[in-house]
Amino acid sequence: VPVATEIAGRFKPTVHPNPTPLEAKIKILKDLKFGQMFSDYMARAVWTPETGWTQKVIQPYGPIQLSPAAAVLHYGQEVFEGLKAYRHADGSIWSFRPGFNAARFNASARRMAMPELPVEDFLSSIIDTVRADPTWVPETNGSSLYLRPFMFASEAFLGVHSAKEITYLMIASPVGPYFASGLKPVKIWVSTEYHRAAPGGTGAAKTAGNYAASLLPQQEAASRGYDQVCYLDVIENRFLEELGGMNVFAVRNDGSILTPAVTGTILEGGTRSSIITLLHDSGREVFETQIAVDDLVKWIQTGEVTEMFACGTAAVVTPIGELGGENFKARPKGGEVTQWIYDELTGIQNGTRPDKYGWLY
Ligand code: PMP
Repeated sequence: VPVATEIAGRFKPTVHPNPTPLEAKIKILKDLKFGQMFSDYMARAVWTPETGWTQKVIQPYGPIQLSPAAAVLHYGQEVFEGLKAYRHADGSIWSFRPGFNAARFNASARRMAMPELPVEDFLSSIIDTVRADPTWVPETNGSSLYLRPFMFASEAFLGVHSAKEITYLMIASPVGPYFASGLKPVKIWVSTEYHRAAPGGTGAAKTAGNYAASLLPQQEAASRGYDQVCYLDVIENRFLEELGGMNVFAVRNDGSILTPAVTGTILEGGTRSSIITLLHDSGREVFETQIAVDDLVKWIQTGEVTEMFACGTAAVVTPIGELGGENFKARPKGGEVTQWIYDELTGIQNGTRPDKYGWLY
């Protein structure tokens, strides 16, 4: 989705009666964790079939009133997005490919029988929230303002139908670098017991239930000493799909790259898409294809696959140091391609490398 025009000002600002005091804010911005602190403002809009999207405001961040019968609490009709705003050395503030997230938000909405939000409203909610108090975008390198647009069935109704009232909110959380000291390899458990998505299901949508379903497998992987779960396809239980919140890549010793194809059961990541472009334009071959886990383990053991990494907005790029399963363990060596991608992508995001694709907005 091209986003060239000025579309701010669609959300009406309200004055904050009680913003975070300066000293407290400075303390928060100095000691950033992931997803624990929130900026003073949030955007809101409400949709009904009769009115469309109305009541667009920027309001103080805080608890919301919701009927205990709100459909989202019972049937999980919800979609969300995640993207970041970065502060450059000259003080300017940039988001990364927000048009991608706006389009994916609406793709998720269609799957969950929810109304689409006009791209202009999606972007305006971000801009207007950031402009309400830009000092929430941290300055230190590697930190950013994590943006979380989401909408949910707020209609009070006990019965399974698509809600006739939807509430959209956009909250913002200042976050530090995911790994404070460089790239830290993670251990991935390949689950043959649990699945994330099936053909015809909701795997390609960014919707709450997918993440709720990932919690038990995640707990079990953690009790085995692994950081995250990699899911396989549901039909043959053999082909790599993705992690609970990240896409995966493998690097071969001939320099070519493998990543699972987007077939309807994985969430297509903006980071994944950007990485494919960067690799392709650097002259590497990228194969979006089926990757059987038994082949992959063999290739890691023979050295045919040298690196593996996971990618997503939160951590950007994370090297995979170990792939474990019921009857195997394989350790990709790791190396320069993962680091190169990390440096390129974060360089574009923080303004130290040229943005030749026009990804920054
Ligand atoms: N897969 C899943 C299931 C995710 O939740 C995410 C995070 N949004 C990703 C992949 C990576 O997507 P992105 O690069 O757009 O953050």
